[in-house]
Amino acid sequence: MGPRSAVVLSSATMDKNSTPPSSRSDFLRDIVASDLASGRVREVVTRFPPEPNGYLHIGHAKSICLNFGIAAEFGGTCHLRFDDTNPSKEEQEYIDAIQADIAWLGFDWGDKTYYTSDYFEQLYDWAVYLIKHGKAYVDDLSAEEIREYRGTLTEPGRNSPWRDRSTEENLDLFERMRAGDFPDGYRVLRAKIDMSSGNINLRDPVMYRILHSTHPRTGDAWCIYPSYDFAHGQSDAIEGITHSICTLEFQDHRPLYDWFLTNLPVPSVPRQYEFARLNLTHTVLSKRVLLRLVKEGLVRGWDDPRMPTISGIRRRGFPAQGVRDFAAMIGVARADSVVEIEMLEHAVRDTLNRTAPRRFGVLDPIRVVIENYREGAVEYVDVPNNPEEPDAGTRAVPFSRELLIERDDFMEDPPEKFYRLAPGREVRLRSAYFITARQVVKNAHGDVVELRCTYDPATKGGSAPDGRRPRATLHWLSAPHAVPAEVRLYDHLFASPYPGTGGRDILEDVNPRSETVLRTCVVEPSLAQPVVGQTVQFERLGYFCADPDSTPTMPVFNRTLTLKDTWAKLRAKTA
Ligand code: ATP
Ligand code: MG
Repeated sequence: MGPRSAVVLSSATMDKNSTPPSSRSDFLRDIVASDLASGRVREVVTRFPPEPNGYLHIGHAKSICLNFGIAAEFGGTCHLRFDDTNPSKEEQEYIDAIQADIAWLGFDWGDKTYYTSDYFEQLYDWAVYLIKHGKAYVDDLSAEEIREYRGTLTEPGRNSPWRDRSTEENLDLFERMRAGDFPDGYRVLRAKIDMSSGNINLRDPVMYRILHSTHPRTGDAWCIYPSYDFAHGQSDAIEGITHSICTLEFQDHRPLYDWFLTNLPVPSVPRQYEFARLNLTHTVLSKRVLLRLVKEGLVRGWDDPRMPTISGIRRRGFPAQGVRDFAAMIGVARADSVVEIEMLEHAVRDTLNRTAPRRFGVLDPIRVVIENYREGAVEYVDVPNNPEEPDAGTRAVPFSRELLIERDDFMEDPPEKFYRLAPGREVRLRSAYFITARQVVKNAHGDVVELRCTYDPATKGGSAPDGRRPRATLHWLSAPHAVPAEVRLYDHLFASPYPGTGGRDILEDVNPRSETVLRTCVVEPSLAQPVVGQTVQFERLGYFCADPDSTPTMPVFNRTLTLKDTWAKLRAKTA
């Protein structure tokens, strides 16, 4: 989707949608509410139907929040159904990852795990039923010929020469397709509908194709597999789905969805509704492209912290609550749009600001020696764990004569408006003391390697009895206590807001600076063995999440996000 073809949801347009989830309404919830009120349905049953051919991404999260959210709000149930009809691309690894991701997002489907493959026998019987009623036939045309005969948007299609086979011949050939008598692609089963229909989906769509491939669940029991169109609605009917919610590209398939349900003796009649899929700037939400990124080694894997996959954003440190809040903010509509990624980041920051413990970490350390502090002495200062959350308490952080601060918190010759440390200037070290820079130590190249400072013992805890207040407060670490750490900084995986729109291969748009690895960082002792997956705020720097690559001697942190909320700023500007 290009920048011109869609509305970009941003600051100005989104303000009114930032209502709390409880007071939310949208066209789908309105439909469900009225179906319940009118008695068309007694209990709402929705489903989330992933194809296990890749990992879930943030677009799927929108669909998950929608399907599970509606079921929960209206006292119904939501099924998890694996749409596993293409064994050549599907794997158990994906089935497992999908379940882990949905559970992490905070949704529970109880024992309602289903697989389209569980319905293969029933679907086969229904295909036979259609053949017997003269509504399906075996076609010998090749895939290419079928495409040719199908016609175009402006020209009707042509009937296949095999369209009028006898019922007996069709039954026999279909049985032999199942028995494995023919190679891949040799014949297909098609619905006999209308080759001149204005809707191409109704021009005798393929119901079954031959594919000799081992299925993750049914093994080699089958060598013919149903198409999405033939499987989806009937699976919904078997499960008693009332509202089958999918993305807009299936709108033109709805007449076919209904055609199968009308022409088969199904146990219930679900209805399909479509909504606009999520598109995000700087992001690609297509499993096919995400798989290429993984296969071509442009990222560390499906769970690379730059990936828009659920497992990627989890590793990056995004909390599930932030993702759910984002889904509520964007709402659902029937018009295609592109959402600014800053809005997702805003929702994540909002959660983390409330929940992430504050810690000290120094990404680019420079040494500070407090000349008037006793050599060898160590004291522990109490630092609040979260100023937004008084109940979060405090922790004791060691302070000593030799400290480390951020290199760019000092300037030898500061410009106006630089209020941090400079020669002769006093600053506050958070929760500790005021210090003043006295002398700059340089190496042979003229680089600053150490700052000689003094502290004011009367400012313990970070305030002065005479009420003077330095303009800057810095984070710091005691050098002998500081724990070496690796920190990985992340930026958008695609530098362009609309990757792949310039006629280039989309992978050429990957941002070469999307990951920066820093190996000389230090963190406070409480983070020596961090809880993997826990996100903390390094004060003044951003949110950071302990990565599974951490070792007992070297913790690794992913920068989840910086502190700067670009979306809130954009919004303030346009308000
Ligand atoms: P992709 O296009 O990434 O390959 P898909 O549609 O093939 O995704 P499925 O596993 O079939 O992936 O999707 C499961 C469900 O998630 C479907 O109902 C689909 O409509 C929905 N979904 C997929 N992508 C998005 C998206 N970007 N926004 C909202 N819903 C989505
Ligand atoms: Mg799909």
